[in-house]
Amino acid sequence: MVENKSKKLLTHQELGTRLDLYSFHEIAPGAVFWHGKGMIIWRELEKYLREKLDALGYQEVSTPVMVKRELFEKSGHWQHYREKMFTLDIDSEIYVLKPMNCPESTLIYSSRTRSYRDLPIRMSEITDRIHRKELSGVVGGLLRVIQMTQDDAHHYVRPDQIEHEVSDIMGLIKEFYSHFDMPLSFNLATRPENSMGDAKVWAEAEHDLESALKKAKVKYQVKEKDGAFYGPKIDVNATDSQKREWTIATIQLDFQMPEKFKLEYVAEDGFKKRPVMIHRAIAGTFERFIGILVENYQGAFPIWLSPVQVKVLNLTDRNEKYAKKIAAELIADGLRVELNTANETIGKRIREAELEKIPYILVVGDKEEKSDTVAVRERGKGDLGAQKLEKFKSKILSEIAKKSALAPPKRLQRREGA
Ligand code: ZN
Repeated sequence: MVENKSKKLLTHQELGTRLDLYSFHEIAPGAVFWHGKGMIIWRELEKYLREKLDALGYQEVSTPVMVKRELFEKSGHWQHYREKMFTLDIDSEIYVLKPMNCPESTLIYSSRTRSYRDLPIRMSEITDRIHRKELSGVVGGLLRVIQMTQDDAHHYVRPDQIEHEVSDIMGLIKEFYSHFDMPLSFNLATRPENSMGDAKVWAEAEHDLESALKKAKVKYQVKEKDGAFYGPKIDVNATDSQKREWTIATIQLDFQMPEKFKLEYVAEDGFKKRPVMIHRAIAGTFERFIGILVENYQGAFPIWLSPVQVKVLNLTDRNEKYAKKIAAELIADGLRVELNTANETIGKRIREAELEKIPYILVVGDKEEKSDTVAVRERGKGDLGAQKLEKFKSKILSEIAKKSALAPPKRLQRREGA
């Protein structure tokens, strides 16, 4: 393989093949085959989100992928969203592959009596695949899929808790994206013509959302009348390498679903009241988010996300045993390491590892073996010289722990012909 000297930006499909992350097959349009290395990125993101959500008091739940259509009749999706839904006829009964998690989440909420003291209740659901029909011409790569996973959560709150809750979510969004140095834009979508519910409740909710945006100190645009009929929302957009804008994170208030499913809590005065539901996603659709990451970084991921963090190469056959020992020590510390002792020139093996965008390459020859060191090459910086293994290890372990942001390279370059 020869490095592309024209520095043309590669698509996430091209990078996925080159870096062995995922593939797409005619047999499953709009769906992704995740390879081992791609799943490492997925799992690292999931692990990071889980740690955050656990610390914030979320409950992680999981609900069925296939349910009877009655649920979606009750939510109104059957009437308004049916063209996006996959149905199955099983023993003369119509089932639906869920296009979203929300209606099922309400069943967990209403499975027990809730008191005003129990709220807010935060239920996250990040493992289940959802299905949405798209026209086949529109489906493509990771950015437009029909089988997808969202890092979805539903917050059930009292009206007086909206602002605080939305501020917390904004904090989470800002923190999450700070690890990717990804520029974001924020939009506040307000009450549309066809809105349902009390105008006063809408006005208060819009005020709460705006105040959370101000507290988060982000620039935002107000999109008048652009909200969903069931509540106002904040949309968070990111741009891919081709300068296309995608909505990735959202914070959507919902006054309607709690009505439809008759959700209640016992208020301080003993009367039953309706909670407000907040739908929110941070990374949004995992597939799309990873697609944008792959393109923005052109495969050169921050070390905490890199499928392979260190590649170890022996200079000569004599050093093979030492190279194996080094690799084993790094693996024992939880690092993702590959060893290449193939009978090829060191120049060729270094070039290969560079094409794989591996953050660190360690080369060991007689000199390193004798002095008990490793010669370190860092991605983008080249040869850093010999170091004691311990020193190298503690440096990269701390880089990984910090999940240091890394500016995506070449982000501003346009893809050829784009
Ligand atoms: Zn939802």
